[in-house]
Formats: sequence, structure tokens, C-alpha cells
Amino acid sequence: MKLSVVVPCFNEEESLPLLVERLTQAIAPWADQAEVILVDDGSSDGTWEAMEAAHANAPQVRGIRLSANRGHQVALTAGLEAARGERIFMLDADLQDPPEILPDMMSMMDRGYDVVYGRRAKRHGETVFKKVTAFFFYRFLNALSDVDIPKDTGDFRLVSRRALNAVLDMPERTRFVRGMFAWAGYRQIGLEYVRDARVAGETKYPLKAMLRFATDALTGFSIRPLRFATRLSFLSLFVTLLMGGYVFGSLILFNTAPGWASMLLAISFFSGIQLLTLGILGEYVGRLYMETKRRPLYFLEQETGDLPQRLDMPLPELGEKDVS
Ligand code: UDP
Ligand code: MG
Repeated sequence: MKLSVVVPCFNEEESLPLLVERLTQAIAPWADQAEVILVDDGSSDGTWEAMEAAHANAPQVRGIRLSANRGHQVALTAGLEAARGERIFMLDADLQDPPEILPDMMSMMDRGYDVVYGRRAKRHGETVFKKVTAFFFYRFLNALSDVDIPKDTGDFRLVSRRALNAVLDMPERTRFVRGMFAWAGYRQIGLEYVRDARVAGETKYPLKAMLRFATDALTGFSIRPLRFATRLSFLSLFVTLLMGGYVFGSLILFNTAPGWASMLLAISFFSGIQLLTLGILGEYVGRLYMETKRRPLYFLEQETGDLPQRLDMPLPELGEKDVS
């Protein structure tokens, strides 16, 4: 199987027929070696029936249906796990990501890239609010996180089998797929495209879902917020020093209420200590968190031909101990 196409769908009965039609055209050059995997993310409309109809029409279109709505990223993951192709193309069901860009992505990959992601040059038919929040979200995320997650990209991309396997080898439960591909490494490149308006239906990302998505992304790829307390404690130390000068100055120069100086100093000193200990706790919690993800430490990209493989040869058998 050369190519798999993965599409997560949640209540997309209206977009599906057109999606299947445009996809079929886009994958025509690889048609005999391609599959389309539509993932029904627990839809409550006729999405599943539309998938069955599409499969009856063209057997290379397969549908899988989740038992309940698990969210875009999980549905996408389910599709990626089901994919059998050497190259995997993923896009949204609402045709905001044009399938027609596939041949360009394929030729980029022929040149040796492992991930060709779509970069949104323009967004049509989306609210100013969505555009503004998305703009700041990707910049904020990049400033905070430890991996370089390409700005203004979605999950619209073509990936190689080894890049996909790397992501599937990451067992974490909070799945921010585009970030996981960024973390996986390998050679990656962006391809600009114009994001169209939805062909039908409405966005499945209301504000609440957007916020959850954003927090998943931030917490999934950064423990820096946990270090915030440490930074604050330095600030607090600085303020304590200033305060100390002020307090002693006042003690000498003016008549202050008895106990005022010691109280003020104690308050600022101990709040600093509290912040510092919170920061130390944060360091441990952050490490615990990263450890629980159990991500592989690295993925191999290349090796020269004749290096020995891993040293997991069986140990030489020990002869029976001579007891005579
Ligand atoms: N989606 C999904 N499960 C959900 C929400 C969305 O599978 O719980 C799918 C949806 O059908 C679409 C893609 O994820 O194919 C992106 O969703 P949407 O277009 O609503 O997001 P937007 O483009 O507005 O950010
Ligand atoms: Mg959309």
C-alpha cells in the first residue's frame, strides 16, 4: 500500500460526499495503491451511513467508527493507527484543506522529506476572533514550549511511514498530533496553501473545545509554566531587599509602630520562601509528568551500512559445571 488518507469526521454528513469525490480525484494517480480511512468520531447525524455508502461505491474507502465522541485528535490517532500506507496524508473532513495539494506534497516527499505540512497562507471564511486567537496561540505556544512547532499549521500534512511510526511510538494520552510530529524530528518542510471556508456544516471547535485544545498543547509540550513560581520567587527576593532598605530607613529616621518592621520583613521573606518551595515542587512535578509520558528518547534517522545492529545477541551458553 503506497498511500493512506486519514480523515477524522464528526457530524460531517453534509461534507462527506463532496470530500470523497474530491479525494478520489486527488489520489487518482495512486488509486490502485491507495486507501482512504474515514473515522467517524461518534457522530450523531448520518455520517456513518454516508461512510457505508462511500465504501459500497469504492472499496478502497474504508470507514471506522468510534464508540463515542473522543475528540478530533483521538479520532485522527485512531485513523493513523489503522493506516497501512507507506505515506500518510491527513486532512479535515470539511474541505478547508484542499486535497488537490497532494501531488505537490508527494513530490516534496520524493525529494527526501519525511513530513510535508500545510502552512496556512490565508484563511477564508473564518471569524476574525478565530484568526486572531489562532495567530497568538501559535506564537505563545512557540515561546513557551521546548519544541519548535511550526506556526499557522494544522494537522493537514503528508508524512512518511517512519515519521508516523515515531508518533505512534509515543504512548501519551493527551494527543496534540501536530506537536508530536514536530517533536519526532526528521526532515520537515512546510507548503503554503490557502485555507478555504468550510463546505458545509459548522465548526466543531466551539470556544470551550478551543481552550481545551490550547491547554493540551501548552501542557503537553512544556513544563515552563511550572517554573513560573521560581521566577516569582526571585522577584520576591528583590522586593524583600528593597523593602528591607525602606524598613530600616524608616526605623532610623521616623517613629514607626512597634512590630511593624519585623512583620513586614517576615511577610515578604516567607512569601518568597513559599514561592521558592513551590518552584522546587514544580520542578519535580514537571519531571514526573515528562517521565509518565514514556516517550522514546530518540528515533534513528540514518545509519551507515555496516555498523553492528543492537547488542541483543544471545549470551553464549555456559557449559555444565564440572563437578568431579
Ligand atoms: N472533529 C472530530 N471530532 C471532534 C471535533 C472535530 O473528528 O470532536 C473533526 C471534524 O469533523 C473536522 C476536523 O476534526 O474534520 C476539524 O474540525 P473543525 O473543522 O470543526 O475545526 P476548525 O476547522 O473549525 O478548527
Ligand atoms: Mg474546519
